[in-house]
Amino acid sequence: MKSIKFLFTGLLMATLLFNCGGDKKKEEPEEKMTLGGSKTEEKKVDSNVAELVLVGDDMMKFNTNELKVKAGQKVKLTLRHKGKMDVNVMGHNFVLLNQGVDLMAFGTKAAIARDTKYIPADSKADIIVHTELIGGGQTTSIEFDAPAAGTYDFLCSFPGHYALMKGKFIVE
Ligand code: ZN
Repeated sequence: MKSIKFLFTGLLMATLLFNCGGDKKKEEPEEKMTLGGSKTEEKKVDSNVAELVLVGDDMMKFNTNELKVKAGQKVKLTLRHKGKMDVNVMGHNFVLLNQGVDLMAFGTKAAIARDTKYIPADSKADIIVHTELIGGGQTTSIEFDAPAAGTYDFLCSFPGHYALMKGKFIVE
């Protein structure tokens, strides 16, 4: 068993490549290193603002299944769809769920909420924040305050996508 600890500031590309299936990675907030070879899309300008870029594609995938911010930070999340397919065929959004909300149950409920772009009208209490639904070539972004420290689920609520397009939003 190998135990590899990666510290990366740009957790976007790297997570996909080095998803070791391990659990908690040890964090040393003071020490920021970028390992050679890992691309960084995140730029640290203001430490009180976490800028996240999440990329979806035509293969029904996000480029990462883990997003990390710190409690008290403002979060600027940009969702980019790098594919070419139409929003009606391969639409993507980012939905951040409150703790205790079952991701599968929510995904199932959202799948039939076509009229409201797969955000069920009666589910406001389930959702912390969500982006617009976008198609290939489009980009959208949202800003919100990081919720209380803890781990939250995120997903794309387009029908069927939550099976692959989901991950953990971690607030430290
Ligand atoms: Zn999607």
